[in-house]
Amino acid sequence: MVFTVDIPELQCNLANWFRREGRSLPWRDTVSPYLVAVSEIMLQQTRVPAVIPYFLRWAEKFPSVQDLAEASEEEVLALWQGLGYYSRARNLHRFAREVCRRFGGQVPSGEGDLLALPGVGDYTAAAVRAFAFDLPAPVIDGNIARVLARLFDCHLPVDSAAGKKFLSDAAMKLQEGEISSRLWNSALMDLGATVCIPGEPACGRCPVREFCKAKHPSTLPKKKAKAEITRISEARGLCFLNGKIWLEKSAGPRWKGLWILPEIEEPPGCEPVVCLEYPITRYKVTMRVFDSLPAPSSEAHDAEAFQNLPMPSPHRRAIALWMSSATKK
Ligand code: SF4
Repeated sequence: MVFTVDIPELQCNLANWFRREGRSLPWRDTVSPYLVAVSEIMLQQTRVPAVIPYFLRWAEKFPSVQDLAEASEEEVLALWQGLGYYSRARNLHRFAREVCRRFGGQVPSGEGDLLALPGVGDYTAAAVRAFAFDLPAPVIDGNIARVLARLFDCHLPVDSAAGKKFLSDAAMKLQEGEISSRLWNSALMDLGATVCIPGEPACGRCPVREFCKAKHPSTLPKKKAKAEITRISEARGLCFLNGKIWLEKSAGPRWKGLWILPEIEEPPGCEPVVCLEYPITRYKVTMRVFDSLPAPSSEAHDAEAFQNLPMPSPHRRAIALWMSSATKK
């Protein structure tokens, strides 16, 4: 596709708008490639307001890649708890150790080197190159994808191979010239977050509306049909004796290293003491928790101190619900 826009003028309009209206975000106060990587990995599947307090706590506890590399997995998971998708925390930990082992504690700027690090995919590599090293890179998150699809009236599904190629070409084309990649990508991201929003965009106050080709922007971007949500159910055992609660350390890929309620066979004819639902990827899980004896794989923990253990949110929530209903009885 030929991108027929006056790129310097478009860049100038958007950059001026960003200097006036851009968001103040804590990871924008740093060009530390390590902290940029932390913010980007936290922002995968999590919204900005939820990430901010986690990022600030993380930057205080592990200000350098060496600090993180030297931390125990338990400390890392404890700081991450509540943010979900714990494989990101484990990958970040491995990322720090690899950066120290292979690159002497300096996060590399080369795309190939970055992509070889744990937890770093195309998006994170591009974001680190742009935001930390100010190198041209196709940073395409949901906000930028929406803006680019609308600016160029692109009707290809943005999650298809053809759509991704289009967005990547458009993103690189729009960074040509003197513009700072850090500034440009931040500006495009903020335009998508605050003006060119999902649904009905605020075109009346858009700094690039004179360049926009979208005829029906609220219908863009297009996406492939979603996979259907599958409902599944699981039974968990809750054993509480003498002020102790029995938990097992998960060895499964999703929650490896976190403390969870052990999975049990559902006891016939029993009512659960807690029942809750939570989503995981394309599944909606119903967790039914039953009073049970200690599972052989479990260990006793002081129930008062269970808050300090690294646990996935649904399990923490189930215990808290059970405790509040037990106190009421
Ligand atoms: S004019 Fe409207 S649709 Fe086009 S980029 Fe601006 S806000 Fe988005």
